Amino acid sequence: MKVLIVGAGPSGLACATSILEGNPDFDVTVVDKKSRVGENPRCAGGISLWMAEKVGISISHRAILAKIRRVRIYAPNGDYWELKGDVDYGYVLDRELFEQNMAEQVERLGGRFVLKHLVSPEDLEFWQSQYDYIVGADGPVSIVRCCLGLPSFPPKDTHLGVQRTLRIRDYSQDTITLDFGEVAPKGYAWCFPAGGDLVRVGLGVPLSEEANAGVLLEDFIQKITPYHKLSSLFGVEETLIAKQIPTARMPETGVYGKILLVGDALPSTDPLTGGGICQGIASGKAAGRAVAEGDPARYDDYIGWLRKQNNRRYRLKNVLFEFNDEDLNELIRVMQGFRPKTMSVGKELRRAVIRLLLRKPRLLSKFFKGFALK
Ligand SMILES: Cc1cc2nc3c(=O)[nH]c(=O)nc-3n(C[C@H](O)[C@H](O)[C@H](O)COP(=O)(O)OP(=O)(O)OC[C@H]3O[C@@H](n4cnc5c(N)ncnc54)[C@H](O)[C@@H]3O)c2cc1C
Repeated sequence: MKVLIVGAGPSGLACATSILEGNPDFDVTVVDKKSRVGENPRCAGGISLWMAEKVGISISHRAILAKIRRVRIYAPNGDYWELKGDVDYGYVLDRELFEQNMAEQVERLGGRFVLKHLVSPEDLEFWQSQYDYIVGADGPVSIVRCCLGLPSFPPKDTHLGVQRTLRIRDYSQDTITLDFGEVAPKGYAWCFPAGGDLVRVGLGVPLSEEANAGVLLEDFIQKITPYHKLSSLFGVEETLIAKQIPTARMPETGVYGKILLVGDALPSTDPLTGGGICQGIASGKAAGRAVAEGDPARYDDYIGWLRKQNNRRYRLKNVLFEFNDEDLNELIRVMQGFRPKTMSVGKELRRAVIRLLLRKPRLLSKFFKGFALK
């Protein structure tokens, strides 16, 4: 059987590995427009160990830039709530190295790479007769998805993520911070340590918002400047990196005849946090397993747990986006009142929203409005 995977990001590489581990006789080719696997990753690189373990992701020690033990969520008024562990909660990855390690594994298993090739609709039409299966792992603006005639994600469910890497000498390298409110309307701003004194500072806002994400990021950097010693305000990466992050519902199916969609192209991304590394790998692995078994329809079942998880988080995202700054301040105040039960930010936020609704029934209308949004 011949399989073509479009996209050598985490989801495409996981899919290739999974096919070759499941059935070494398969002929697997991964094609990407990049000249090097992992080149120019536009990502903060954060993963939770809870998800990484659930999905079964192995990470080489060298690909870990920072180990996270503390997540701080800031309310618009500056109050914060902290999730702090005695053990590592997550990692910040060197995505380039992480993906190169994944690609080496694909090559060891007999997979092939075709790089520097921008896949066009004409290519896909021709390849349909050449390959038994085609996997679209080509990210949020997927040509495979487009050629299937599927709509692009709605603007309210597509965040534009922007990020700069700064040198902040006194930033605690075991901590990530998330800021909610006007700093990033209907999204959030983040600081992720990236080893040494480097910090990835970014934010995401939906395309439906009129706000200019680049301007918001500069404002956010100005906001945090007084609290830190920034030796280079304009960053190590002089250029701002920007890329779409799908925050839409995960669809009921990722199988379209002999074509399967994985990762951001599906999308499998967590709609609440925008995290898509572990989620993309989960979907890639599941699709690869189904293809290796010769029954691609099983992909939808194998990934059912992630669909349920993402769809719960999609509803939570919509509820939170109905909240104004005052509501968000109250949410953090409520969270300050309880001890975390889990090491999952999403689960703790859900607990907090429920407790807040019990205390402030006036928010119920916002809850139902957000909950019902499709
Ligand atoms: C600013 C920002 C910060 C983020 N931070 C995090 C984070 O901290 N944690 C987290 O889990 N997620 C984060 N994400 C999301 C995460 O980066 C994605 O969910 C993840 O990369 C999805 O993996 P993928 O393999 O599906 O797609 P991608 O990583 O986008 O890979 C797609 C591949 O397809 C290739 N490709 C695309 N089109 C074509 C074409 N026509 N021809 C050939 N090749 C093509 C691309 O070159 C690319 O290599 C962030 C995203 C952004 C934008």
